Amino acid sequence: MTFPVVGMVGGGQLARMTHEAGIPLGLKFKLLSDTPQDSAAQVVSEVVIGDYRDLDTLRAFARGCDVITFDHEHVPTEHLRALEADGIPVRPGPDALVHAQDKGVMRARLAEIGAPCPRNRIVSDPADAAAFAEEAGGFPVILKTVRGGYDGKGVWVVRSEADAADPFRAGVPVLAEEKVDFVRELAANIVRSPHGQAVAYPVVESIQVDGVCDTVIAPAPDLSEELAGEAQQLALRIAAELDVVGHLAVELFETRDGRILVNELAMRPHNSGHWTQDGAITSQFANHVRAVLDLPLGDPRPRAPWTVMCNVLGGDFPDMYQAYLHCMARDPQLKIHMYGKDVKPGRKVGHVNTYGDDLADVRERARHAADYLRGTITE
Ligand code: ADP
Repeated sequence: MTFPVVGMVGGGQLARMTHEAGIPLGLKFKLLSDTPQDSAAQVVSEVVIGDYRDLDTLRAFARGCDVITFDHEHVPTEHLRALEADGIPVRPGPDALVHAQDKGVMRARLAEIGAPCPRNRIVSDPADAAAFAEEAGGFPVILKTVRGGYDGKGVWVVRSEADAADPFRAGVPVLAEEKVDFVRELAANIVRSPHGQAVAYPVVESIQVDGVCDTVIAPAPDLSEELAGEAQQLALRIAAELDVVGHLAVELFETRDGRILVNELAMRPHNSGHWTQDGAITSQFANHVRAVLDLPLGDPRPRAPWTVMCNVLGGDFPDMYQAYLHCMARDPQLKIHMYGKDVKPGRKVGHVNTYGDDLADVRERARHAADYLRGTITE
């Protein structure tokens, strides 16, 4: 067999959907997963159960893989350097990935390359956070632990010095940022290959509820061509400067005065790109796989004027399969993507995609299906 083996670290839904995209290409996947129950471990045939923080485990896993890529950004940088020294291609590489792991490193590098960011600096204690607030025009300000946050965990809106103690308790450096008065959040998603080919997806609007992505609209409604182009160029430039390989999501704020500011970077397939599975000619997962293998990238253009993705969160109603009958009968164009996770209240267990010519209709269909699956509506 000459087909390459793609080693995927992390057994979540991103790994599951990346594996799915590799099947038609005949690729072999090997998975390093925390438990056999993880989303991707349920479907990949070659699974190693182990801890990605342990170098010996990673080394043993990487043997026999042609390339290593990731479902998350938490593998220690020094371990990735060790794998590279063993001669195994790691994509994205450790020098790129560190910018998605550490928000302090990311802000410093983006400042160097002139990428627009909220005003920010590392702060040492609550009094320093108050000093930053003074420099930034007053409270409230945002404090973030530089490592280990996700889905809004590790982010605090702080209204006073007394309010600023919590972020420092983790013993991790804390980044202070001005609280941006944004009108909405956007994401510019691109994919870049090792020899520098890159493709840009349409810029999308991403709507968060309680710090968790809820809805993604592709393309972002009423975004000027100029600002969309600027966002795509910015993402392509960041990818080239940081030597990113694979999918890069640049999460952006659109400000009231019509500018874009970078919020954060993710170097892996991203929730804001799930719409591409059904709404683009080549999905983010297929292009991520092509990029890590240095194959020519696929067309990122949309298949329909509008595509909407809604995440499906767990509700009080554990049997989502029962809801399929109604959802599929109501909307034959609906695409359901479930991750094989146990349904727990508030947990992301899947998403739906809808597409078509009329945005209001496409949105209503996605919203209805997500709510019906969750069990918050019954008709
Ligand atoms: P995470 O790593 O948990 O995704 P983010 O840095 O993306 O953390 O922040 C989570 C959310 O907090 C963002 O989606 C945004 O809504 C809000 N947020 C983060 N930084 C700022 C900021 N500087 N100004 C205003 N809101 C912010």
